[in-house]
Formats: sequence, structure tokens, C-alpha cells
Amino acid sequence: MNRCTLIFIPQPQGAVHTLRLTRWHICVCAVAVFIFFVNCGLLAFTITRLIQQNRDLVGARAILDSQTAQIERFAAEMDSLVALETRARDVFGLPPRRSAAEHTRQGGQGGEEHDGYESSELLSSPSSLSGHRPAAGTLSALLEEARYRQETFNELIEHVTRERDQLAATPCIWPVNAPDAWISSGFGYREDPISGKRTFHDGMDVVAPVKSPVMATADGVVTFAAWDGGLGWVVTIDHGYGYKTRYGHNHKLLVKKGDRVRRGDVIALEGSTGRTTGPHVHYEVIYNGKKVNPYRYLVN
Ligand SMILES: [Zn+2]
Repeated sequence: MNRCTLIFIPQPQGAVHTLRLTRWHICVCAVAVFIFFVNCGLLAFTITRLIQQNRDLVGARAILDSQTAQIERFAAEMDSLVALETRARDVFGLPPRRSAAEHTRQGGQGGEEHDGYESSELLSSPSSLSGHRPAAGTLSALLEEARYRQETFNELIEHVTRERDQLAATPCIWPVNAPDAWISSGFGYREDPISGKRTFHDGMDVVAPVKSPVMATADGVVTFAAWDGGLGWVVTIDHGYGYKTRYGHNHKLLVKKGDRVRRGDVIALEGSTGRTTGPHVHYEVIYNGKKVNPYRYLVN
């Protein structure tokens, strides 16, 4: 078929129109129809893809909203943590610590400005989370703050541990466990009970019934437990942090050199060995190599 003719007959009456089409016309029409359907297909595909992308975006937005809420909760928890640390520092007499950003800025580690995480600022002004997109700077600042607070908490724990150890090493109880114990002679110059001469008494004499329990007045290690001339049977304890204590005139020793003792442990039985006029404990406190008044260390 090289050509064909289309005849249009209007109803009910009118002039008849004819359209003569060559093969070339038919081919052009066929190509046009093909392109039209291809475009329709592409349009349908594009619309479907856009709908799917929109669904994905809605899902991503929900996830982002959830993450934003989590970051806000994280910031609130961080606030509580910082407040708790500040209170703990106050209790232990330590100055409050700055935020990680301030610490970094004032630490002189370069002049670059950080986003500067301030958790309270973050909560009162959520604009830092800019709509629904958590700022990378906020997240990294929070993580930096968390790492920094870990350091400061470790520092606090070390301080508390040191304080606890120092407290445990400080003599603070009576050296004899007897309800009717009393001090017969204090620290300082006195008339010697045997020679009658004025001499310096470098300890405190505590009288109690014979064989009353003699106690370590702080935690420490026994560095001497033997006979020592005028003091008779003696125990010396090194408590660390500069403290040592001595307990003389004992009837019997219950510890040996190298033993680790806790405050309140019985280390000997009271007696009257060595140069003495009666049963008592000669109790000495030595701080940084110097004998000090033991009475100041009697808390109870
Ligand atoms: Zn004495």
C-alpha cells in the first residue's frame, strides 16, 4: 500500500472531506503514537518513583525526629550528670569544673571556635537542633562533653579514694578498749614518776585494767613488734600519709612485724612491762617524723 485516503462524512449533511495519506505520513503518525506512549510510560515511572521517594523521606523524617528527641534526652541527662558532679565536688570541697568546650578553649589548644555545647542552652533553645536535623557539631560537642565528664568523674573518684585512705590512716580512736580507761599523763613536760626530774613526756599514758585490749588507732602496717628497753613490749604501726603510732608497756603482743591491721584491731594486751610504775599504755602519735600530742587525735 503506497497511499490511502481517509474520507470524513459529516452528519447529517455537509461537505465530504478527504485526506490522502502517503506511506511516509503513516510512518510519521506511527512514530508519533509510539513516542507518545513511551512518554506516558516514563511519566508513570517518574510519578511512582517520586511517590516512593516521598514515602522514604517521611520515614527518614520520623527517624530524624526520634534521634532529635534522643539527643535532647541525652542533653538533659548530661545536665543532671553535671549537676550531680557539681554537688559531689561541693561536698568534697572541690571547685566546679567548666564545660568541655570552655576547658578546651581556655586550655589554649588553638584559636578555633567550637560549637560550645551548653546542655541547658540546648534545651531552652532547641534551635540549635535546627528544625529536625541534629547538628553534627551538637552531637560531637555532646560526645566530647561525655568524654570530658568521664575524666572529671575519675578525678573525683581518685580524690575521694585518697581522702578515704587518708582518713583511714589518721589515728582517731582511744588506744585501749576499756570503758573505764583514763589519761594519767599527757603530752609535754612533767615530773618523771620514777626519777622525779622534769622531763618531756612524748606520748600519752592511758590507764585501764591489766590485759585490756590495745587497739590500732588507724589502718596500717606493723613495722615493729618487740621489746624496746624502757617501753617494754612495743608495737609500732606505720599508717602512711606521714602517720605512725606506738604502743608501749604491753603485757603481751598479738601482732608481728609486717602484719596489716585495721583501725580497732586488737594488737596487744595492756600491761606494765619496761620502766613503769603501773599498768598503762604509753601511746605516741608521730606525724612526718615528729612526735605530736595524741590527745588531739582522740575523736571519740
Ligand atoms: Zn608514757
